[in-house]
Amino acid sequence: MSADHPRRAAERLNGVRGMNDVLPVDEALWQRFEDAVADAMRAYGYRRIRTPIVEHTRLFVRSIGEVTDIVEKEMYSFVDALNGENLTLRPENTAGVVRATIEHNLLYEGPQRLWYAGPMFRHERPQKGRYRQFHQVGAEALGFAGPDADAEVILLCQRLWDELGIVNARLELNSLGQSDERRAHREALIAYFEANADRLDADAARRLHGNPLRILDTKNPAMQSLVEGAPRLSEFLGGESRAHFERLQGLLRAQNLPYRINPRLVRGLDYYNLTVFEWVADVGGAPLTICGGGRYDPLIAMLGGRDAPACGFALGVERVLAMLREQDEADAAETHCNVYVVHHGDATLDAALTAAERLRDAGVDVILHCGGGSFKSQFRKADASGAQLALILGVDELARGEASLKWLRSGTQEEAASASRQESVTLERIVERVLEAMTDED
Ligand code: ATP
Ligand code: MG
Repeated sequence: MSADHPRRAAERLNGVRGMNDVLPVDEALWQRFEDAVADAMRAYGYRRIRTPIVEHTRLFVRSIGEVTDIVEKEMYSFVDALNGENLTLRPENTAGVVRATIEHNLLYEGPQRLWYAGPMFRHERPQKGRYRQFHQVGAEALGFAGPDADAEVILLCQRLWDELGIVNARLELNSLGQSDERRAHREALIAYFEANADRLDADAARRLHGNPLRILDTKNPAMQSLVEGAPRLSEFLGGESRAHFERLQGLLRAQNLPYRINPRLVRGLDYYNLTVFEWVADVGGAPLTICGGGRYDPLIAMLGGRDAPACGFALGVERVLAMLREQDEADAAETHCNVYVVHHGDATLDAALTAAERLRDAGVDVILHCGGGSFKSQFRKADASGAQLALILGVDELARGEASLKWLRSGTQEEAASASRQESVTLERIVERVLEAMTDED
């Protein structure tokens, strides 16, 4: 007996927690999204930039700021075993885009409108709409100081929602003013929270002296009333900051773009000034931020470039896709192929492959049945593929130089009438007949 040594199946390897595979069933949806993004970016004159996924850790520490969630606990940082460099998988792409802009002197030619798309990495607790590898699309308007650029990136977002058919995205706006205005507000905040120290949770107590502004962003319901009563930054804004914010609002109103001022909107990253905004939408019945952005005038100089203003946004692709999925589930999942080739296995494979290749030459999308099986099981697969037609190659028919075409789909009444239709066709006429049948259907 070999009971001590049972044959064991090889250990199954799974993907890393919080890092998702995008399966073919979702591809149509991703493609639709990516096409809409490319169109919207082009419509505003933004050009794509692609920066590496890995950057020096200090790029993010310096730009995002030491006392932020991202740098404190969400970064995938590691030491390169070969040369000892401290590296990090990018948690966002603004720092990388600004680094590349400085490194390649792009602003020398004048202001730049840039956009990016790709995977980002944050070590967070995975949950709906929150992953460890996720994707962002973003735009950066570099070298523009005025509220016209702020309005432009916001309008760009709105156009993207329109193009995607997203109707329930709401814009929230706030102004963070300039650093001296925030400093005065910060002192007032610390004084207020110190006076209410017994009502702070552990997170808030820890942030009190490092980044008290982040306390306003708390998700703890027990702290809401305390936060409501805190001194507001708007009371500390100077004339120029107010004028910038007023002008932006005027521009948005003139374009009939509704917004809500949210005085508690602060954003997680430290490099923002003046305008901040978020697009919030309901996903699965709960409000979720799908996009965040604003102005970050200090960043370029902070990263060693010549002082230049900038603004932009980043949207969470998975969250936008979750909304789209909710809006039209069926549409997105539909497979697309015109012809499914059913055949008799080895004896007919050459003829089946030849027919499939000729059809593809003519621009027809074809799935060739692989792996044998009865005609019945092959027809089941043909039906499930969403193809309009099955091309059938049987041994006897083939000997006569013929094949059959079977109409599969029965969506409309007319199609239902012809659903059981089947006809013989000579091998030479297959392409011609398939093309005819496809134009009939349209
Ligand atoms: P949150 O407060 O939800 O953590 P954030 O302020 O960290 O968001 P940003 O850094 O502004 O988010 O990123 C912009 C957008 O990217 C977010 O609005 C969201 O849609 C998306 N996003 C951020 N983190 C994740 C994540 N872990 N998984 C999926 N999407 C994310
Ligand atoms: Mg976050």
